Amino acid sequence: MPGPDSTGTFPKTFDPSPQSATVHILHLSSEFHPYSKTGGLAEMVGALSRNQAANGLKVTVLSPLYRGLAAKFPDLRPTDWHFDLPLRDHWQSGRFWECRPSANLRLLFVEHPEFFDRPTLYGDVRGEYPDNAERYCFLSHAGALLARYLPDPPQWIHGHDWQAGLLPLLVSHRRRFDRWTRAPRTMLTIHNLAYQGTFPIDQWDRITGLPRSYLHLDGAEFFGGASLLKAGLVHADVLTTVSPHYAHEITTEEYGCGMEGLLTHWRKDLHGILNGVDYTEWNTDNNPHLHDSYRLGDLAGKARIKAALQAEIGLEVRADRPLFVNISRLEAQKGSDYLLEAFQQILEENWQLAILGTGNPLFETAVRNFSKLYPGRIAAQIRFDAALAHRLEAAADFFVMPSRFEPCGLNQLYSLRYGAVPIVRDTGGLHDSVVDIRESSERPTGIKFGRPDAEALAHALRKALAIWRDSGLLDHFRWHGMTADFSWQRSVAEYQALYEMPVTRK
Ligand code: ADP
Repeated sequence: MPGPDSTGTFPKTFDPSPQSATVHILHLSSEFHPYSKTGGLAEMVGALSRNQAANGLKVTVLSPLYRGLAAKFPDLRPTDWHFDLPLRDHWQSGRFWECRPSANLRLLFVEHPEFFDRPTLYGDVRGEYPDNAERYCFLSHAGALLARYLPDPPQWIHGHDWQAGLLPLLVSHRRRFDRWTRAPRTMLTIHNLAYQGTFPIDQWDRITGLPRSYLHLDGAEFFGGASLLKAGLVHADVLTTVSPHYAHEITTEEYGCGMEGLLTHWRKDLHGILNGVDYTEWNTDNNPHLHDSYRLGDLAGKARIKAALQAEIGLEVRADRPLFVNISRLEAQKGSDYLLEAFQQILEENWQLAILGTGNPLFETAVRNFSKLYPGRIAAQIRFDAALAHRLEAAADFFVMPSRFEPCGLNQLYSLRYGAVPIVRDTGGLHDSVVDIRESSERPTGIKFGRPDAEALAHALRKALAIWRDSGLLDHFRWHGMTADFSWQRSVAEYQALYEMPVTRK
């Protein structure tokens, strides 16, 4: 029996990882590339954990066993660790699946068919699944169980976003009331503050299994509801977010999504660490998704990829037309609405536009209609297609990212390496990773604009067209973009420094 908070069989097959590694980190994430992904969160947790393990940390990652994973990844094996949690008015049963891609890295997947064997991760055409809070509270409980009863318990639990928000509270609760004297310290990383895991307050005990005494202004209560993100922000020992500028922005009313007071209060425990790029996957000279290759100083392959891509997606095959690309969730956050309006304002110019994305049905229709109006000039690809994303980045001359807010953003980092000059709104991680010519005429890498509206973006697009007409200047931007280094080493070192820092908050 693992303990008073659960029942279950003791894990016979859970050998400790090799003793050579030092600090043991348990990541808890609702997505984890390459096993599950809807966006940047999955890529960040996948790359961070692999790089931490390669750097000598002992790393365990826990995420759900979603539909089809066991069949798609034959390395995944069921363990004999079954458990039952007293949640939702009755016992919820789960089981861990495991695989070990490398000596220091252990991946665990929690199986609970009712919660996780579904067609998509978070919702369907009717909207978000109504029981999302329950699903991810269950994941947090499974994480607490692991952290307590693994033969090699972690020193840190590192949770990601609202889906892991309950875990810091669970750890703090059990440390105080359940004699968990060697409880790990907890870090919560905010990947996107706009998603807060809120639900009706009267569901609290049923969904979390914790007392209502945590529901107050300085606890999990949030504007009359309960918020799992707030529970995590209040109880985690250390808070991080995915860029220094976003760490600042979320303490302001404009970007704080109602949490700015709380985050200002914890400002000294809130650290901004820019995500890195996995250059073994995102590169232009050894990439299975590209039929050609190119590198700094030899962009002939890029021109060939552009021609092939133009033909593939129905654009006119013309080297003399600058190709603008946008790959994103089609949502207001990403500026998908005013993106089209801005291009409408520069119709008299020569350019091409390719958009790859899915999201809000209104924006999907608007993108499709825009492309039908200008065949050969605008291409709409309304689907999720990772391989096409690589081809588009490689073909692009400019990459457009007009986000209203952007905690880190990954596509601008890929664009830099792929020689596609990013045009970004000056916010969050876009602010930190792109250098406008006004900031440095010696080392510019992209174009930044301020207001999130069509006029400001159209102005930035005209600047891009001016750069396009000056091949020396275009090369200057590309050179500095392609040599910019956003590899994971720096971010891994920054997280490591935090794990080693004495925690003073609690
Ligand atoms: P977010 O996590 O807010 O969606 P990011 O820029 O941090 O935004 O990460 C999004 C990731 O998902 C990028 O790697 C992007 O290329 C990828 N992506 C988004 N939409 C699509 C799509 N329709 N097809 C392929 N990749 C996509």
